[in-house]
Amino acid sequence: MSNQTAVKILQDLIKCPSITPDEGGALSVLQALLEPAGFDISRMRFDDANSPAVENLYAGFGSGGPHFVFAGHTDVVPPGSLADWSHEPFVGDIEDGVVYGRGAVDMKGGIACFAAAALEYLADHPDFKGRISFLITGDEEGPAVNGTVKLLQWCADNGVVFDHCIVGEPTNPSVLGDTIKVGRRGSISARLTVNGVQGHVAYPHLSDNPVRSITGLLSALMEPALDSGNQRFQPTNLEITSIDSGNETSNVTPASISALFNVRFNDEWTPQTIAAELTSRLDQAVLDNRFRGADKAPISYDLEFIGNLSDSFLTRSDTLINALSDAVHFVTGRKPELSTGGGTSDARFIKDYCPVVEFGLVGQTMHQVDERVAIDDLTALSRIYRRFLEVYFA
Ligand SMILES: [Zn+2]
Repeated sequence: MSNQTAVKILQDLIKCPSITPDEGGALSVLQALLEPAGFDISRMRFDDANSPAVENLYAGFGSGGPHFVFAGHTDVVPPGSLADWSHEPFVGDIEDGVVYGRGAVDMKGGIACFAAAALEYLADHPDFKGRISFLITGDEEGPAVNGTVKLLQWCADNGVVFDHCIVGEPTNPSVLGDTIKVGRRGSISARLTVNGVQGHVAYPHLSDNPVRSITGLLSALMEPALDSGNQRFQPTNLEITSIDSGNETSNVTPASISALFNVRFNDEWTPQTIAAELTSRLDQAVLDNRFRGADKAPISYDLEFIGNLSDSFLTRSDTLINALSDAVHFVTGRKPELSTGGGTSDARFIKDYCPVVEFGLVGQTMHQVDERVAIDDLTALSRIYRRFLEVYFA
């Protein structure tokens, strides 16, 4: 029953070309599914001067507590070259027990499984006490400005309070039941610019090569390690993503150079303390003056923090984690690892409102050509969510 339902819902969602930030009909599919089952539906369109308007949906059934909310997104990343797909990305073809299509795992599949589980659970429990909600955005793969952040604010403004949340992002690296995400590292990005004096490579005493300067500064950012991790989190990591002087010659040293980097930090840091540590390392590196002549003026650098920064978080709710772990074990026989690795998701916003964990499908094909999911996995995930609801509302 539920496998058919989840597969059918997923196919209906895949048929909607909801490439971020377009709604593509995907939220209407959910509305048409949930409204006849008695869910109250609110559709909100949020906009902002600097980012595209986005459609969002909040749906809820029941009243009183506890209030459990399932969160997710119906927007998807673009399919890329259509010629590379063996099945069209917005059709929902099934071949050999596998559903193909953009969003199959990230994360229309997760939404389909939860919708199937919730509808089946409510049909079997007419005496149900509590509230089950869906918090669905069309702005997770985009700038994340007009999505979950404003949706959560809308809920708060309308007196909607959640007790616990599962985000249905694909969390399992290889098999269903591997991993529940119980937290995330924080993230901070920066641009480091170093200025010097342009010159001829043969006369370095007449110039001040900023490439030498930035080499010393970047070394200081990477060594020694920022920390060695702890029981809850892996070590904090700094990755340099670009070093660019714009200079394509080998006989001129440039006047300036910039590097971009991102730090994924654990719960031993806050955005403020990690920023202070980076600045202090740079100031020390200026004094150390590695790779440069003692005759040079002190290195002049500029460190600018850019983009979104987010703090780390760790969810400690036994009610939520134990119910979900037990449901995963009941259905798959696996004891899921409680992980804080990987990238960011909308859970970073939800954690300010209620305890939140993430559990969904296997992530291997997300954002790839021929994104796909096994019907067996859809069946199992529906059963996990269903079992979770049984335990949670018991
Ligand atoms: Zn996603």
